[in-house]
Amino acid sequence: MQELLTLLDKDLIYDGHEIIDGTFVITAHSGNPVCKCRYCGKESASVHSVYRRSVQDLPIQGHTTTLVLTARKMFCKNPQCGHKTFSETFSFLDRNAKKTDRLKEQILNVALETSSVAAADTLKREAIQASKSTVCLLLKKIAPPVDN
Ligand SMILES: [Zn+2]
Repeated sequence: MQELLTLLDKDLIYDGHEIIDGTFVITAHSGNPVCKCRYCGKESASVHSVYRRSVQDLPIQGHTTTLVLTARKMFCKNPQCGHKTFSETFSFLDRNAKKTDRLKEQILNVALETSSVAAADTLKREAIQASKSTVCLLLKKIAPPVDN
């Protein structure tokens, strides 16, 4: 399981897993002692608090897979920075995303070959939870801007 997580991010450390109602739930955290402030870019090792963040990842052996990350809220010690605290970010996730980048890619691969309704059905068979509106939203994000 550690190897699977390393593929996602070399700093991720496996904490455990269980299958809950058919969903593969993996808990993990970053082993990197420092986090970079997203406002000023300065690194900090000073932890304010921790919280859980759940995101969907690629299915494992036909099970919908949820990654439960123990994420840190850090103090920014840079006196020039306008922010006292910031949340840890992960290389494989957008800031407020509920799905990993590689899962979004997989959803788009299916969606680009078919309609969003058919894509949602196909994804469901592959144990990927993505509604028709999620598929549309992802498609919109990659669509080239329309010239007026
Ligand atoms: Zn900062």
